[in-house]
Amino acid sequence: MTTIIANEISCPVCRATDSSDLPQLPKDYEYQVAIAADFGIRICNACRSEFVWPRPTLDQMRRMYPDNYYAYGTEMGSFWQLIYNMWCRAEAHRMLSLCRKRPLHLFDIGAGDCRRFKAMGAGEEFKFSGVEMNEEMAAAGCDAGFDISPGTFEEFDQTGRAGTVDVLTINHVIEHVTDPGETMRKAHSLLADDGVFTGRTPKLASTGHRYFGRYWSGYHFPRHLQLFSKESLELLLHKSGFREVEIVEELNLFPALSLQNFLLGKLGLPLSLEGGHSRIWTLLVFLTAPLSIFDYLFRRSDCMIFVARK
Ligand SMILES: [Zn+2]
Repeated sequence: MTTIIANEISCPVCRATDSSDLPQLPKDYEYQVAIAADFGIRICNACRSEFVWPRPTLDQMRRMYPDNYYAYGTEMGSFWQLIYNMWCRAEAHRMLSLCRKRPLHLFDIGAGDCRRFKAMGAGEEFKFSGVEMNEEMAAAGCDAGFDISPGTFEEFDQTGRAGTVDVLTINHVIEHVTDPGETMRKAHSLLADDGVFTGRTPKLASTGHRYFGRYWSGYHFPRHLQLFSKESLELLLHKSGFREVEIVEELNLFPALSLQNFLLGKLGLPLSLEGGHSRIWTLLVFLTAPLSIFDYLFRRSDCMIFVARK
C-alpha cells in the first residue's frame, strides 16, 4: 500500500492541502473492478468535498470501466425506455429554453452511444456534437450521423472550435474527471459568449450520503473521482470563470442503487448484476421512490443540476 504524506495531497476543488481519509471506504459493489483496491477517498477539511486519492492515470481510469458499463449501450426494458424517452423530451425542452439560437449547438461531454441525442429528436432545432471516451461508442455515434470525437474531453482538440458551442452538457461526468477545474475552464473556452454550461452530479450532505455511508451510490467507487457539496461545486464554477451559477435539486434513483449496494455489501445477498443492476432493480426503485420524493421536496437529494453562463 502506498504511503502518502497528508500535506502532499491537494484538493482538486479548492487546492487546500488539509484533508483526511474517509473512515469507511466504499467498495465497487456494481462492477468489482480489481483496480479499485489501489485507491482511497479523502475529505477536504477546507471545502468538504471528497475525492479519490491517488488520482488515477488515464490508463488506470480506462481499467475502471468494464465493457458492460451501464452507459455503454446496454439495452433497456420497454418500461425504462419509455421513461427515458419522456425524460429526454423534457431535457430537450429545457435545453431550448436556455438559449434562443436555432439550430442550437449542443455539445455533450460523455455522449455514450448518443441515445440521448436520438431521443431528444435532432430535427432542425439542434446541432449535436460531443466527446466519448469509449472508442466503440464514439464510432457508433459517428455512424449514427453525430459529430463525436473519441477520447476524453481533456484530450479533445478544440482548435477552430473555441467559442462555437451554445449549450455544453456534462451529465454525471464532472465527478469522473481527474481535474474538474481544468474541465470547467476548457468548457468555458469552448462555449460561445453567453453560452450555457449545465450538468448533473451527485450531491454530498444528502440524506443518502448521510445514512447509507459507504453504501451510498453517489460514491460509485472508484469511478467518481470527485464528489461535490453544493457549495464546493458553486465555488469551482466561479473559479473557472462562470457567472449566474444556479444549482437545484434533482429527483433521482440514487436511493435504489444505494439500497442495492447495502443488500450486496452489508447483508451479502447473492444478487447477480448485469450492467450494474440486479434483477430486482425495478422493485428497488419502487421501494425507495418515497425516499427519493421526500429528499427532493426537502432539498436533501442525492443529485443536483447546475446551470452556469459564460
Ligand atoms: Zn477543498
